[in-house]
Amino acid sequence: MRTIGMRIFLACLTTCVMIAMHASAQDKPNAELIERARELLDEVPLIDGHNDIPWQYRKRVNNHLDQMDLSQDLTGLKPDLHTDIPRLRKGGVGGQFWSVYVPATMRGAEGIRMTLEQIDMTRRIVARHPETFELAFTADDIERIHKEGKIASLMGMEGGHSMGNSLAALRMLYESGARYMTLTHSKHTDWADSCSERPRVDGLTPFGREVVREMNRMGMLVDLAHVAPVTMHAALDVTEAPIIFSHSSARGVTDNVRNVPDDVLIRVKENGGVVMVTFLSGYISNRYSEYFDRFKEARELLREEFTLQPDKIEAGLGEWSEENPSPKNATLSDVADHIDHIRDIIGSEYIGLGGDYDGTTTLPDELKDVSTYPVLLAELMRRGYSEDEIKNIAGRNLLRVMRGAEKVAEKLQKERPASDALITELDGKDAPEE
Ligand SMILES: [Zn+2]
Repeated sequence: MRTIGMRIFLACLTTCVMIAMHASAQDKPNAELIERARELLDEVPLIDGHNDIPWQYRKRVNNHLDQMDLSQDLTGLKPDLHTDIPRLRKGGVGGQFWSVYVPATMRGAEGIRMTLEQIDMTRRIVARHPETFELAFTADDIERIHKEGKIASLMGMEGGHSMGNSLAALRMLYESGARYMTLTHSKHTDWADSCSERPRVDGLTPFGREVVREMNRMGMLVDLAHVAPVTMHAALDVTEAPIIFSHSSARGVTDNVRNVPDDVLIRVKENGGVVMVTFLSGYISNRYSEYFDRFKEARELLREEFTLQPDKIEAGLGEWSEENPSPKNATLSDVADHIDHIRDIIGSEYIGLGGDYDGTTTLPDELKDVSTYPVLLAELMRRGYSEDEIKNIAGRNLLRVMRGAEKVAEKLQKERPASDALITELDGKDAPEE
């Protein structure tokens, strides 16, 4: 027989469980909202700023196209692959900037050659699946291809090392199809400061400013992901066209050097650009970001202690990782918090998405691959974003930026010829030979 106290306890327990269930149901977007988000992506293309599948081809199969077939559902492939055609379709992707990334250690002619190989790789992927992909070079291309039911495929270069200090090479890379260049990756170029090292040239050198001007003249988007805040400001001082952050989140939420500080957000609004929010746990979760900072610190100490002894450094890092287990990945809610923050500061007209799929292994569970974009959009709807805002964030903001850059290019091409400046003239030093 139950006592009164026990009954009250059980009643409370039931209520608590019900409240908890209700709360958790409320914490996630429901199937109806996800379905609605999917429908919206028929009307407007979802355009993602950064996907590293070309690098996965390089790393896994040495660019042998036959050895990895994107038309198959590759879920379950090890290590995890985030992208294939069935999942792109499920995610409602309408436009994708494929990253033709090459490591920042590739300098000079080597960097240019390898970038061309990655552009070639991307073009071969597109050619292999003509029923799904079509190359896009303009905002109009994206809209037309999306209306035809295909995925508009653009290319972005991740780091100024890809142009090997040569404006001539930069122009030919544009002709090959590249439509944005991130000014640096994780290392400084000779003319721009990366966020991953201590600033060296206060943002941009005279040649760096000429690179931005020449990109404006061609209509290649200036991408400020990966650069130091001083470089963000220096580029915003020079650029006449709207800029992008192809895959960066908000520093006001997570204090990570890869994110966009609030004072820069204000300038993105003035410039008419777009911040394409990224999903990488280390950039969007404070827990994860702090963990990475401690990891890097430990690695630095080991490198100092065991100079040129990689085995010892690796063993030390293994020990460190055992003693310091990595925290859980970020969540869908973390990503939405970054979007909320940018919206609070400058409005939703300056927000896009840049998942960094296949460029990271630390994604929120709810956003584990390219099939999940509607879940994120549904979460924003649950938080009160209007359908108009959802369409802007999904792709219309990026289309506006591209059109803006195309218009500036048209004007500048009437005003001035291609720049024949050399780094050696503007920066008074020889181009490095590495
Ligand atoms: Zn990146």
